[in-house]
Amino acid sequence: GWFLVRITLPRTIMSRQLHARRVEGFDKNIWVEFTQLISDYKVVNLGQGFPDFGPPSFMQEAYCNAICGGASMHQYTRAFGYPRLVKIIAKFFGRIMGREIDPMEEVLITVGAYHALFCTFQALVDEGDEVIIVEPFFDCYEPMVMMAGGTPVYIPLKPKEVTGSALSSADWLLCPEEVASKFNPRTKAIVINTPNNPLGKVFQRDELQMIADLCIKHDVLCISDEVYEWLTYDGEHHIKIASLPGMWERTVTIGSAGKSFCATGWKVGWAMCSGHILKHLKTFHQNSVYHCPTAPQEAVAVGFQREYDVFGTEESYFRQLPAQLHAKRLKLAKSLRSVGLQPILPQGGYFMTTDISSLKVELNDPDTKDEPYDYRFVKWLIKEKGLAAIPVSGFYSPEHRADFQNYIRFCFVKVILLMDIQNESEQYRENYTCAFPHGLPDQDPPKHIARTALFLTKVA
Ligand code: PMP
Ligand code: GLN
Repeated sequence: GWFLVRITLPRTIMSRQLHARRVEGFDKNIWVEFTQLISDYKVVNLGQGFPDFGPPSFMQEAYCNAICGGASMHQYTRAFGYPRLVKIIAKFFGRIMGREIDPMEEVLITVGAYHALFCTFQALVDEGDEVIIVEPFFDCYEPMVMMAGGTPVYIPLKPKEVTGSALSSADWLLCPEEVASKFNPRTKAIVINTPNNPLGKVFQRDELQMIADLCIKHDVLCISDEVYEWLTYDGEHHIKIASLPGMWERTVTIGSAGKSFCATGWKVGWAMCSGHILKHLKTFHQNSVYHCPTAPQEAVAVGFQREYDVFGTEESYFRQLPAQLHAKRLKLAKSLRSVGLQPILPQGGYFMTTDISSLKVELNDPDTKDEPYDYRFVKWLIKEKGLAAIPVSGFYSPEHRADFQNYIRFCFVKVILLMDIQNESEQYRENYTCAFPHGLPDQDPPKHIARTALFLTKVA
C-alpha cells in the first residue's frame, strides 16, 4: 500500500536581514496575546470589545438583501466607497454638523476604523513629525504613528482627587498647560478619542475648545477617533471637534459601522474630512486595499438611511443601544463594587475601568513574573477564575506604563452581564457562539455563566 513519508527540508536562512525595519519592535500586540489566551482557556470574555449579540434585525435583513441583491453586490464597487454609502454618510453627518459634506471628496470608506486610522497616519505623518497622543489611548495609535516614521508624544489624562462620591471618567482631566507644552514646530497632529477607550471619558466642549485653540495656533491637524459616538450615558452628549469653528479644515473624523451598529465583523469604517486632506488618504487607500467589500457597505447604507429617517425618535437604534447598555453598565459597576472594587463609571463607550490594587491577590505564576501587575492579574483571572478582562497599562506609553498597572478594563456590551444563571441560560445559549468566535468551550454554557457570576459576586 501507500504511505506518506514526511520529508523535512532544511529551512532557507537568508544571510541578509529578512524583515523591514518598520516592523521591528511591533510584534507584540495586546489583542493577539489576550484573545489567544481567552481562546485557549475558553473563558467568559469581558475583555475584547465586541458584542456577544448580533446587529439589530433591520441590519441583518439589509445584509441578507444585499447578498441576494444581484451580481453587482458581489463585484468591486467604487474604490473610495460605495456611492450609496458615502452619500448617506455625508447627508447624515452633514445634518448633525450643520454643513454640506461632499460625499465623493470628503468621505472615505475603509476596512473598519483601524484602516481609516492607518490611512490617516500613513498619508499625513512624515519622518520626524511629532504626533501628540492623549493617554490612555487605543493601543494601535502608537505603532501606527511610528510605522509612518513619526514620533509619538504623550499627554496623560490624570484623575483628580475625589472623596466620597463614586469615581467617574469625568474626573480624568488634561492639564491645559501641560498640553500646550507638547506643541512645537515639529508637531503635525494630535490624536483624541471621544468617548475614550478604555476610560469612557466623553470630552466636554471646553476641553475640545482648548485642544482646538492649540491646533489652530500651531497649525496642527486633529485626528478624532469617534467610533463610540452614539454611546453616551446620563445625559452626556458627544461633540465632534470638527464642528468647532476653524476645525473642519484640520480634522480627520474617524467612525465605525462595527461599533455604531454592533457589527464589528463587517469591518466597515470611514474617515471624513475636508477634501484637501482626504485626497491624501485616498492616495494611500488606492495603493493598499483599493476596494472595500461591497455587500456590507450596501447594508450599512440602508442602516444609515433608516437612522437618518428616525433620528432623534424612540425608534432610533443610536438611541436604543445606549439605553440597553446603560443597564449592563450599572450591573457591572454594582458587581465590581460588591467585590470591593471601585469602578470608574464611564460617561460613554462600552468599557469600564477599575482599580484592582485593593484586591491583594497573590500572583505567583513564574511565567508572568516580569510583566506589569495588571497583565499578571488578568492572566490569573483568566486561568483561575474563568473570566477575561484587559490590562489597562497596555493603553499607556512605555514611559507611563509603570504608573498605571493597577487598572483593568471590562467590556459591558455583553448579554451575559444581564443573565440570571438559572433562568436565562437558554437565552445565553442562543448568543453563545457569538461570545466565543475562536471556538466553543467544552463546558456547558450554564457552567460558564456560573463561573462569571461567581467572580462578579465573590472574587478573591
Ligand atoms: N478606535 C477605537 C477607539 C476602538 O476601540 C476600535 C476597536 N474597534 C477601533 C478604533 C477599530 O474599529 P474597527 O473595528 O471599526 O476597525
Ligand atoms: N476596540 C476593541 C477593544 O478595544 C477591539 C480591539 C481589537 O480587537 N483589536 O477591545
